[in-house]
Amino acid sequence: TTKGEASVNVVIEETLNVLRHHFELDGIGIEQEFDPSVPMLSMDREKIKQVLMNLLMNAKQAIGKKKGRIRLVTRYDREGRAVSIQVTDDGCGIAPQSLPRIFDPFFTTKGTGEGTGLGLSVSYGIVQDHGGEIRVESEPACGATFTLILPVAGKEP
Ligand code: ADP
Ligand code: MG
Repeated sequence: TTKGEASVNVVIEETLNVLRHHFELDGIGIEQEFDPSVPMLSMDREKIKQVLMNLLMNAKQAIGKKKGRIRLVTRYDREGRAVSIQVTDDGCGIAPQSLPRIFDPFFTTKGTGEGTGLGLSVSYGIVQDHGGEIRVESEPACGATFTLILPVAGKEP
């Protein structure tokens, strides 16, 4: 694990560069609302990309074959001294009884060969290693929002 200074906006952009074209071919629009004032954070950017990739693939799978939208929002919370990244999809959503279990290793609602149930548990660990948090909100049948909160180390400028 090699940490360096990076902007979440740039890391998201790098992740999207790989996926955007495939998503659009499948009828999924990507919307971005980036806060240009997000500060650089100390992070392992390959690991954070892995988290984003997991969230984006889950969003795509939740949307399935219909047309859909994935929205990525970044924000700098000066008071909380943290940067948040929200990933929202308009897919199938998460059943209330599944919500407490989705970060558990091997929990999956997908068929054999489609899901290992490891993506979110690995992502949870990566975010914890960064001193951050990952949260989820979902309205079944409407979609889901995952929020990553990454702390800004050190003092405010
Ligand atoms: P996998 O994708 O292999 O099933 P994950 O750990 O990535 O494993 O996700 C666990 C479960 O959480 C999924 O099987 C699915 O039920 C639920 N889930 C994750 N992201 C979403 C999402 N964006 N919309 C709906 N359900 C989701
Ligand atoms: Mg997954």
